[in-house]
Amino acid sequence: MDADYQNMAVLGASPADHVPVGFYGERVLRVHHWSSALFSFAISRPPGFRFRSGEFVMIGLPAPGRPLLRAYSIVSPFYADELEFLSIKVPGGAFTSRLQGIEPDDLILLSSKPAGTLIADALRPGQRLFLLATGTGLAPFLSVARDPDTYEKFEEIILVHCVRYVSDLAYRETLAGLFADDCLVGEQALAQFSYLPTVTRDGFPQRARITHMIERGILAEGSDKELDPVTDRVMLCGSLAMIGECRTLLERRGFAEGSANKPAEYVLERAFAG
Ligand code: NAP
Repeated sequence: MDADYQNMAVLGASPADHVPVGFYGERVLRVHHWSSALFSFAISRPPGFRFRSGEFVMIGLPAPGRPLLRAYSIVSPFYADELEFLSIKVPGGAFTSRLQGIEPDDLILLSSKPAGTLIADALRPGQRLFLLATGTGLAPFLSVARDPDTYEKFEEIILVHCVRYVSDLAYRETLAGLFADDCLVGEQALAQFSYLPTVTRDGFPQRARITHMIERGILAEGSDKELDPVTDRVMLCGSLAMIGECRTLLERRGFAEGSANKPAEYVLERAFAG
């Protein structure tokens, strides 16, 4: 066996299943194909695996030599028994072309070190928390919006999901249902959570890009108030172009980027650059 590799004796793993040092070998529990462009999958959660809402982790496919690895935000709330991820299907992509073919019981590599910047502790206390996502950038916010602490820290949580086509609105039912089935946050979400889907290339009630929504000051339903750094906090995740433009708009309004050491008014995820 390669010196860098060891078999972590995963339950049910075959001798050919090499799991790199620093990784768990986990089993696929289920796969859901939202559309020809999008799918999600859940894997078993190792007992010692901890993460903070909003973090991402490296996911890998066993391969001869070095495994193929990509960063994926964890969709699941921190208290879930399993770990769920959302992925696009990149046509001809080295990783997702293989990943989209996974089936229950297949082996997935999971890095033991979650990381990320979309952390509520990097934000100063505020009244409204805006979670602004394009495409699969939605993933970490499904975790943040199911964390009871989020509802303790903020009076209102507003999730804006901007996609090209209606079929890209993954988790639409769960979000529009305000996590009613969630035993931990169901009641709080009903009172404090709003879901604002927006679709730019199909017929849909809301068709604006997030940048246009910020400029028009119509982010919250029934509210025409501008984003205000005194009361509002923002998390950004998704397309690099969207993040860059939103960042300029926010900083023009007096928002500063926060970190765990120096909490401020907004945070963004950089791990998916490129
Ligand atoms: P996309 O399908 O290309 O775009 C989604 C939406 O963003 C479209 O409605 C598009 O509007 C809009 N958009 C594009 N450029 C914009 C801009 N400059 N300002 C405002 N809106 C803009 O999907 P994507 O958002 O690029 O893809 C998702 C990203 O999230 C990927 O980069 C991925 O790496 C990242 N991510 C993934 C995960 C995960 O766990 N899978 C987690 C975090 C982040 P138009 O139709 O008008 O162009």
